[in-house]
Amino acid sequence: MKERTCPRCSVTKSHNFFYSSGVTKTGVDVYCKVCRRQYQQGRRLKISHYMNTRYANDPEYRARVLTKNKKHRTKKKNAANDAVAYALKKERLVRQPCEQCGEKKAIAHHEDYDKPLDVVWLCRPCHYTHHNPEKIHV
Ligand SMILES: [Zn+2]
Ligand SMILES: [Zn+2]
Ligand SMILES: [Zn+2]
Repeated sequence: MKERTCPRCSVTKSHNFFYSSGVTKTGVDVYCKVCRRQYQQGRRLKISHYMNTRYANDPEYRARVLTKNKKHRTKKKNAANDAVAYALKKERLVRQPCEQCGEKKAIAHHEDYDKPLDVVWLCRPCHYTHHNPEKIHV
């Protein structure tokens, strides 16, 4: 049984206690599994701390994150709308008139894209108002 000494905790352990690695000569990780896990956890914390600080202080970075989130949202939105279209086709969902004004041509609005079939039926103008409440009096 091959053994190696972990340079982090200085304990000699059999290779079973190391993750296998394709980059080292020994074929196993430099640090033992315990140390590797600790290291990774610490790194994750450090990274999230770093990102939070950067998000708060760097407007350019913040803008980038927001665009990324927006893309993610669009993806979710499309998936939710696909689910609605499919449910309508399969008659699992019935098209309703606008909940605000009764207009027959209503679209499915999602309060939460994670619940794709949880929809509110709104006509275009009411939908617009719903998303832009501050522009109600223009
Ligand atoms: Zn170790
Ligand atoms: Zn309406
Ligand atoms: Zn909407």
